[in-house]
Amino acid sequence: MKSFHPPQRTLMGPGPSDVPPRVLEALSRPTIGHLDPDFVAMMDELKALLQYAFQTENPMTMPVSAPGSAGMECCFVNLVEPGDKVVVCVNGVFGGRMKENVERCGGTPVLVEDPWGRAVDPQKLEDTLKAHPDARIVAFVHAETSTGACSDVQTLVDIAHRHDCLTIVDAVTSLGGIPLHVDAWGVDAVYSGTQKCLSCTPGLSPVSFGERAVAKIKNRSHKVQSWFLDLNLVMGYWGGGKRAYHHTAPINALYALHEALLILREEGLENAWARHRRLHEALKAGLEAMGLSFVVPEAERLPQLNAVRIPEGVDDAAVRSRLLADYRLEIGAGLGEMAGKVWRIGLMGHACNTRNVLLCLQALEDVLQRAGAAIETGRALAAARAVLETG
Ligand SMILES: *Cc1c(COP(=O)(O)O)cnc(C)c1O
Repeated sequence: MKSFHPPQRTLMGPGPSDVPPRVLEALSRPTIGHLDPDFVAMMDELKALLQYAFQTENPMTMPVSAPGSAGMECCFVNLVEPGDKVVVCVNGVFGGRMKENVERCGGTPVLVEDPWGRAVDPQKLEDTLKAHPDARIVAFVHAETSTGACSDVQTLVDIAHRHDCLTIVDAVTSLGGIPLHVDAWGVDAVYSGTQKCLSCTPGLSPVSFGERAVAKIKNRSHKVQSWFLDLNLVMGYWGGGKRAYHHTAPINALYALHEALLILREEGLENAWARHRRLHEALKAGLEAMGLSFVVPEAERLPQLNAVRIPEGVDDAAVRSRLLADYRLEIGAGLGEMAGKVWRIGLMGHACNTRNVLLCLQALEDVLQRAGAAIETGRALAAARAVLETG
């Protein structure tokens, strides 16, 4: 055995996305103690940077020391008590995992189901809450990475609040890629991930809890069943004032997140959102010129996750391995009920750039043509360039 040196790739799947050299360099800086005063000063900056990314002033904003799934679990174990009725909106894989979380916390999930590839229907949520006036929490996914559908956070949160429910929002794929205003929209609890539009390495989950959520956590009648994720304990380390040992923070990973968020702040959130939108338009023009069709209706589409149908008779896995072998390009396979039927092309964070859009179109056209797929050739690049030149 010898040292592991990963191959070079361009990551245009559902995450992780390409990590910029500045972030990788930050990871390699010397490890210091997790209670070192210089480290603690960095943590304060990190919190402020996360508050900026989430557009919130919530003091309870921090990265959970584990991937997005742990951020999800952190929200559910802290907010759901045994016996709580929780309305879960399911329109893809991640909504399904929320339901699983509710059950494991001893709560009772009530589902609002929408077809995969569509946004959550606000009317269905309204009807469900009318039928279940004892529901305490509403949970849904902002950017459903399994299908590429975007749900309307503000509208869904307003409905939940009118029915006296707290809200848990999955913003793993939305943070940094599309508008998310935690305070202005009144989101009560939100979790995200570092390896999607923040372009950091995987393994951390930024979370933020508003006042009403914090009050519910403080007034729980049962202890949080997870020791590691119990916010009452975690806040002894992350919550300002005198910091006490809870677990050893992933020191170097936090340097990397600090750097990734600095990059986001330097670009400006609005500019980052606009970049995702513009490059999505270019990619879309190219894919459609090739004759590929999108799964999600235009008004509900995520710019950072483009799900397209695999053309008739084309071998899904063979195309993806060709892209990897010939172009070092990774695109995502379908997940759950969409496996084998769609490709998920990510345009996330650092990977959302002109070069990648053109590379992806060129590579896909070449590989599909060689696979004998019935696509239009020779048009995609021009269609994408036409969009890029007007932007
Ligand atoms: C990726 C993802 C997750 C899970 O994040 P991990 O870091 O893989 O644990 C949860 N929700 C959504 C919407 C995601 O895209």
